[in-house]
Amino acid sequence: MSAIVGIITEKCPKCGKGKVFSRKGNPLLFQMPRMNENCSECGHKFEKEPGYFFGSMFVSYALVVGEMIVFFLLVHKFIESFVTILILIALLAILLSTFNFRMSRMAWMYLLDGKNKQI
Ligand SMILES: [Zn+2]
Repeated sequence: MSAIVGIITEKCPKCGKGKVFSRKGNPLLFQMPRMNENCSECGHKFEKEPGYFFGSMFVSYALVVGEMIVFFLLVHKFIESFVTILILIALLAILLSTFNFRMSRMAWMYLLDGKNKQI
């Protein structure tokens, strides 16, 4: 299984079978995603130390900026008001917040702790 598929399907970076998140979260219900502490299949510990996911904030930032740019390029020809586009972009960022949270943590784990790493 490639890393991209593992990130999107939210599977363990070591075995590729266990689920990383027990709850996906819902921004409309103010519900954050919940991570499992260990992989149910191989027992791999996802958060190795406190602050392990600090760097995933930078991944999340890049993801959000990319989404905002793509959204702006898609809608700027149909919506003339710049303020309306800004409001829609803010709504998009809120609606995709849990998705971005999960994807950034998954990308961070695969980056630091993928199958080929021997740490
Ligand atoms: Zn595993």
